[in-house]
Amino acid sequence: MDNRKAILFSAPSGSGKTTIIREILKRFDCFEFSISATSRQPREGERDGVDYYFLSPEEFAHRVAEGRFLEWEEVYAGVYYGTLKSEIDRIWDNGHVIIFDVDVNGGMNIKKYFGPDALALFVMPPSVEVLERRLRSRGTESEEAITKRLARSAAELEKAPQFDVTIVNDVLEEAVDRTQQVINNYLSVG
Ligand code: ADP
Ligand code: 5GP
Repeated sequence: MDNRKAILFSAPSGSGKTTIIREILKRFDCFEFSISATSRQPREGERDGVDYYFLSPEEFAHRVAEGRFLEWEEVYAGVYYGTLKSEIDRIWDNGHVIIFDVDVNGGMNIKKYFGPDALALFVMPPSVEVLERRLRSRGTESEEAITKRLARSAAELEKAPQFDVTIVNDVLEEAVDRTQQVINNYLSVG
């Protein structure tokens, strides 16, 4: 199998893409997660160089100026996230398939960069009400951060048709099974 492949997951925050990715990583051994850089503070339990490369806003801006990002976004006002070009070489040099977890705009930019070589998945919540409930029940965000995330979600949901496949995340087990099926098809071609 040609391992120079990439799978990206995008979704409005709270749709469940991190949960699905975690399950998918258990079912395949050829994947490696692209560790993004962010200027946000680590959540409880998050580790630098594992969940994200946590940078100060100044360090982030410096890397932008050096042209070290494949893509970056100010996902929320004053909070930056980006994919470092070095992640791609790191993961391909390890002989692994890249998994990206990025916001919807970032996903569209990465898909443009890789073209048909990447599989672009959109994780869709069953409804906006469920999305809000999941965001609140995760309990990781302030009320202000939840409001910011929900405010973006309508515009993000409209972009689903631009992705290769939409995975509706209603019953988790079913969503993970469907994701596995779609990934198996992608890996078996070319
Ligand atoms: P995202 O990475 O898209 O922001 P998460 O994976 O963090 O979303 O999921 C948001 C919350 O919803 C988490 O608390 C997670 O446990 C929960 N969750 C994810 N998928 C489901 C599902 N299918 N049914 C119920 N709860 C879910
Ligand atoms: P969180 O703060 O919940 O970890 O992530 C917030 C949002 O930023 C999510 O939609 C996540 O997918 C997105 N994100 C994480 N890393 C990147 C990245 O490298 N680039 C872009 N564009 N978005 C990212």
